[in-house]
Amino acid sequence: MARIEKLVIVGVGLIGGSFALALKEAGAVSRVVGVGRSAQNIRRALELKIIDAAGALDAATLADADLALLAVPVGQMQPVMRAIAPLLGAKTVVTDAGSTKQDVVELARRELKGSLSRFVPGHPIAGTEKSGAEAAFAELYRGRKVVLTPLKNNEPGAIALVRSSWESCGASVFEMKPKEHDAVLATVSHLPHVLAYALVDRVARHKDAERLFSYAAGGFRDFTRIASSHPEMWRDICLANREALLAELERYGAGLDKVRAALRRGDAKALDKLFSGAREARERWLKDAQ
Ligand code: NAD
Repeated sequence: MARIEKLVIVGVGLIGGSFALALKEAGAVSRVVGVGRSAQNIRRALELKIIDAAGALDAATLADADLALLAVPVGQMQPVMRAIAPLLGAKTVVTDAGSTKQDVVELARRELKGSLSRFVPGHPIAGTEKSGAEAAFAELYRGRKVVLTPLKNNEPGAIALVRSSWESCGASVFEMKPKEHDAVLATVSHLPHVLAYALVDRVARHKDAERLFSYAAGGFRDFTRIASSHPEMWRDICLANREALLAELERYGAGLDKVRAALRRGDAKALDKLFSGAREARERWLKDAQ
């Protein structure tokens, strides 16, 4: 297990805060400094002992850091990278938790310059619909996957430090190419979020919305849980991965056309086949995921 003397978390929300708490619990870090946009959130992170001190995007915070995690919405990665590039120490390793990887890698190539070989892009495949320091908890990454999309010129020591940090949080680390990562996540994460938001929006705009919501129960609650996720974060993810997401929406639309056609025909056999196949696939997935 690699030991981190000083960890800097830029964006102490659910993801950054949970990383800090998990490393503290594992005894893998000595000191955590948090940098944030909202003073109230940083105060809460201090109260909850997620961070030991509040820092800023300045040399005092970053120059002697062993590891810096960028856990801000992906739309904020560019200004953050631009600000930290001249401040990073010669040994500081940087990683991120952004939900999209092609855009983050492109930004890093443009902004991080001399520190690029110590920037190891990553994405923990774990989360909840809650946000902010208040939502952070040490067990978030236990038994979950983390995808790293290392750069060709990454220093092996930088990859090893990031890998071992996530493993200390209880996660299993996998590697992928950024494009492959974004295509996979468009299918199993970004599309479902868009569908959940779109469904709630449709009901909310109905002239009889209040009455409709009063009859919504478990199915609606389960399907739409992720529509409680942070809008800024999901706006940024959708825009950053819009090509893969648009392709996924096309494919989903074709799937809906199939259901629509079966319904028009009153085709019980076709519906039965589709629903049974989907149920079996979901049950297999749940079993495998255990
Ligand atoms: P969050 O809203 O809980 O936390 C983000 C924090 O970043 C907030 O405290 C916000 O104040 C701060 N912030 C925003 N802009 C900033 C800036 N310019 N400088 C400093 N701080 C800034 O969100 P989160 O769920 O922790 O997500 C963080 C990142 O992790 C995002 O890139 C997201 O795509 C990714 N991610 C989220 C999940 C999830 O399920 N929530 C899962 C995996 C990855």
